[in-house]
Amino acid sequence: MKIVRYRTDRDAALGVLREDGRSVTGIDAALGIETGGEICQLLDQWQPGFRARLEGNDAEEVVPAGELELLAPCAPLRRNVFCVGKNYREHALEFERSGFDASDSGRTQAAPGAELPVIFTKATTSVVGPGEGICAHTALTQALDYEAELAVVIGTGGRGITREAAWQHVFGYTILNDITARDLQQGHKQWFIGKSLDTFCPLGPWLVTADEIQPQNLAIRSWVNGEVRQDANTSDLIFDIPTLIATISAGITLLPGDVIATGTPSGVGLGFDPPRFLKPGDVVTVEIEGLGRLTNPVVVQS
Ligand code: MG
Repeated sequence: MKIVRYRTDRDAALGVLREDGRSVTGIDAALGIETGGEICQLLDQWQPGFRARLEGNDAEEVVPAGELELLAPCAPLRRNVFCVGKNYREHALEFERSGFDASDSGRTQAAPGAELPVIFTKATTSVVGPGEGICAHTALTQALDYEAELAVVIGTGGRGITREAAWQHVFGYTILNDITARDLQQGHKQWFIGKSLDTFCPLGPWLVTADEIQPQNLAIRSWVNGEVRQDANTSDLIFDIPTLIATISAGITLLPGDVIATGTPSGVGLGFDPPRFLKPGDVVTVEIEGLGRLTNPVVVQS
């Protein structure tokens, strides 16, 4: 089931993209609930029978999908996006070779023998939807980069979630582009600012429920201006999704609607010699098997 969030006259609404791909069933009308167009509100009220009701519903409010402006499916977020650094081996190596990795102090955390994942966050205010502009922030950075990532959306929250129980806490998946100002990431040592400028977190185009996705084996690709840059598979993740959920939730209570970005494969701009960073006018597309395509232009001002 594909859940979309779209603009309405007053604000935003949630819907299920129907199988024809051309129309959407309004979720609030179909379930008789009020979400305010927020996935967190839907997940707070979620009941086991909802999926069948939504998938089998032909009678409720239906709008033509072609006329919809899609918004980031998980916005507004309750709190920062949890992110994982250096979670694909080849990307970890390209990052370390690039000289932009100020976090590592000569240690190769993602090399064989790495024991703990690198976890950081992106600000809620960095989220934008499909088609929205990524602001180049040219006064702040000359090293704007893209990172194609599989994002996990938590359904049922909890603390101390075991690896074995982790899948039961996943509601679905979406695509995230972890836009990064490499020079700020390097200069500040901690990654938060370089990862969190406004518009630095494109999300979408929709959320696909977990029953439709085998997240351990998905092709993941990115393009800049139509040229393929990243081409990998989520089977190459160093720390898998159950390990990430168990690690984060060990002492931090996960909440419904939390988003975990699982890391990016090699082929980002800093991996080239010389680096190939983004500039205004570029268009970045990320595609993940079964999750669709997320395309955003780079703009001077947003
Ligand atoms: Mg990343």
